Amino acid sequence: MKHLLKLIQSENYVYWTRRRDGSDVLRDIFWTHHDSIKLLNMFHFVLICDNTYKTDKYRLPLLEIFGVTSTGLTFSVAFAYFEQERQENFIWAFEKVRDLFVSKNLIPKVIVTDRVLAMMNAIHIVFPTSINLLCPLYIEKKIGTKCKQYITNDRQYEVMDLWKKIVYSTSVEEFDHHLQHFELVCADIITFVDYVKDSWFKPYKERFVVAWTNRVMHFGNTTTNRIESAHWRLKYMLQINNGDLCKSWDAVNMMLKNQMCIIKSSFQKTISIVDNVYTSPFYQRLHHFVSRTCLKNIDEQLKRVKMVGIDKIKCGCSIRTTHGLPCACELAYLQISATLIPLDTIHIFWRKLNMEHELEHEESLSQYDFLEELEAMKAYMKTQDIAGQIIFKAKVRELVFSHTTLKRPPHDKVKINGAIKNNKKRK
Ligand SMILES: [Zn+2]
Repeated sequence: MKHLLKLIQSENYVYWTRRRDGSDVLRDIFWTHHDSIKLLNMFHFVLICDNTYKTDKYRLPLLEIFGVTSTGLTFSVAFAYFEQERQENFIWAFEKVRDLFVSKNLIPKVIVTDRVLAMMNAIHIVFPTSINLLCPLYIEKKIGTKCKQYITNDRQYEVMDLWKKIVYSTSVEEFDHHLQHFELVCADIITFVDYVKDSWFKPYKERFVVAWTNRVMHFGNTTTNRIESAHWRLKYMLQINNGDLCKSWDAVNMMLKNQMCIIKSSFQKTISIVDNVYTSPFYQRLHHFVSRTCLKNIDEQLKRVKMVGIDKIKCGCSIRTTHGLPCACELAYLQISATLIPLDTIHIFWRKLNMEHELEHEESLSQYDFLEELEAMKAYMKTQDIAGQIIFKAKVRELVFSHTTLKRPPHDKVKINGAIKNNKKRK
C-alpha cells in the first residue's frame, strides 16, 4: 500500500487516505490527477460511477468515477480503494469528489450507477440535488438471470423482449401499456412478475425507464456500459497482475496519460478542422465551436425533420431535454425561416473545448476568505493554477474537518451486493 502511495504521488497525482482508528493500517485511498480535476470542472454535468467488488488481491473494492467530454470521450475523474464496501466508505470518497469542484454551482446534475445500495445512499447524502440514474443494461442482466431461473427456455426470448419494450417506452402511457401486456403474458409466473415490479419498477422506474429519463439532461449518458472499454483495460491489468495495482501502475498511468492526449487532441481537432461529414451551410455557425459528437446528434434530428415538421407532439423534443440540442421541430422552424443554427441553441456542455481557459470563467477559489493569519497561505494559493488551488483547499478542509469525518455516528445497516444473492437463496 505504501509503495502504491509513492507511485500515486508521482507525476501530478494527488491522493487522500484514511487509517484504521489508532493504527497504521490504511483503510481507504482516494486518488485523482491534476488534469482530471480540470476536466471534472469543465464537464461537471454528468458523472458515471463503477464499482468493482473485490478485484484486488487484498480483496479491496475499487470505485472508479468517470466523466464525459463534449467530444464524447470518457475520462477518469478519480479512483478509490476501500477496506469495505459500506455506505460510510462511499460517503468519504464522494465528499472528496465534492471538494474537487471549484464552486458549489458545479455539483453534478446526474450521476449514473449500477444498483449498489451503499453507493446510492452515499450519493443521496453527499449530492442530494443530483439525479441518480441506474444503468438499464445492468438491470437487464439481473432480470435475465431471474428469467432463466423462473421461465422455460422457449419463452425467455419473448419475455426479455417485453422487458425491453417497457424500459424503452418513451411515454408513461406507452410504459403502462407494455407493462400490462407483460403482466398478461407472464400471468402464470407471478413470482417473476412480482420480482420485476417490486424490485425494479416500483422503486426505480424514474431512474432507468426512458419515459422518465427522457426528462433529464444526461447528454446521452444513461449507462455505465460506455466506460467498459477503458474500465476493462484497468480490470484486465489488475487481473493479469494478480490484482496488484503496484505492478499494474505503469500501465494504468500510461492509460490515463494516453486518455488525456486523445481528449486534448479531440478539442484541438474540433477547433481547427471542419468535419467533412457535416459540411452543410446549415451548420456554418457551429463549425469550430461544437464537437463532431454534437453535430452527429443534430444531424440525426435533421433527418427526422421531413417526417416530424413543426409538430411538437410527433417530435417529442427529447434531444432538447436530454442533450440540450435543437430537436427536429426546432430545426424545421429554423429551415422555414432560412436561419442557420445559432450557436446559442447549443448547450454550453458541447461548447467546452479548451482545458486551459474554460475554468477562468468559473468562480475562483479566491472567493473563499481566510482569516488574516492565513494571508501567507492565500498568497501561496494564488501562485497555483486552478487545479493546485482546488487540491490546496481540499487538503485544508481535510485538516480542519478531520475530526468530524472520523467520528461519524454509527450507520444503519447497509445492504450491499451480496444481499441480493442471499435473497435468491431464500427463494
Ligand atoms: Zn421538438
